[in-house]
Amino acid sequence: MADVILRNISKRFGNVEAVRDLCLAVNDGEFVVLLGPSGAGKTTALRLITGLEQPDAGSILIGGREVTHDPPGVRDIAFVFQQYSLYPHLTVYDNLAFPLRSPARRVPEPLIKKRVEQTAELLHISGKLRNPATRLSGGEMQRVAIGRALVRDPAIYLMDEPLSSLDAKLRAELRLELKRIQLELGATILYVTHDQVEAMTMASRIGVIRDGRLLQLGSPREIYENPADSYVASRIGAPPINFLPARLVPEVVLPAGTEMLGIRTEHLQIGKRNGGRLVGRVHRVEHLGEQNHVHLEYKGKMLVTLADPHQPLDAGEDVELHLLHPLYFDAAGRRIPAAMR
Ligand code: ATP
Repeated sequence: MADVILRNISKRFGNVEAVRDLCLAVNDGEFVVLLGPSGAGKTTALRLITGLEQPDAGSILIGGREVTHDPPGVRDIAFVFQQYSLYPHLTVYDNLAFPLRSPARRVPEPLIKKRVEQTAELLHISGKLRNPATRLSGGEMQRVAIGRALVRDPAIYLMDEPLSSLDAKLRAELRLELKRIQLELGATILYVTHDQVEAMTMASRIGVIRDGRLLQLGSPREIYENPADSYVASRIGAPPINFLPARLVPEVVLPAGTEMLGIRTEHLQIGKRNGGRLVGRVHRVEHLGEQNHVHLEYKGKMLVTLADPHQPLDAGEDVELHLLHPLYFDAAGRRIPAAMR
């Protein structure tokens, strides 16, 4: 496999700046996830790497070779799309063999057989090779779609929300499998999604993207614990981070310049009233089995935190709030780093 480097890539459609000055290196064997909302420029970034779109500015290198103006066919990329695009009249075996049978590749049939069988084993669909592609479950179809990329040995795999059409249980299963396969193959993958759980569970590094701009690139832990700004902080975490204007907690000592507190559930503990100065009111308790989501009202703002399911709490009850090392943001939403606290 190879590394992929994007240098100051920009792409505009009319007056939409789909990708702005994007710099990104996906190292050999790395699993990089671009995480962003709809319209952030994720698909465009992938299409630029494949050569399906031409950048207005910047350059793209694959394995040290500049490919910016090369046609898609010579870039040595395998692409997995959101919608599985199988050939319905072919068997699973022939769907998997298809990319290797292209006249340009001329792979001999015995080698095709070997690659197809290895891939089917990796994806746990060996028993389905003779099935028509239409006689499969949704999860199996998506495995075949991923398998059509895996039978090849490209420089990089690009994946555009390949799990988003599956139900939650299958998505969770395939997430684990995709990560296992990536580690087994040592594959280089650039994967785009709007699903924070996929990003957190599979990525070696996450790039948070918004309005065509890469806001931060780092390990899942860095992104979660040290977000560069309030937007990045809001992209990761469930329940999502709470934001509280600093003026609502005049009794708390804050770093200079703090305008907003970012309070994740682990930064907010609640307890019985016992003389503490921050008091909120329980609005609603959601019972999720192993934990409770407690929705609280504090000076007209709603906050959510987690509580032990055995902690007795009733709607309307007043509770003390304890803040444990929340995040601090300035007026522009930039994080005030820990060193300055
Ligand atoms: P989604 O998650 O919805 O697929 P995305 O992050 O992949 O979104 P893109 O598809 O890359 O976003 O689109 C980025 C922006 O560029 C959007 O505003 C979109 O409308 C615009 N765009 C993308 N392709 C074209 C095109 N061919 N012509 C005009 N505008 C386009």
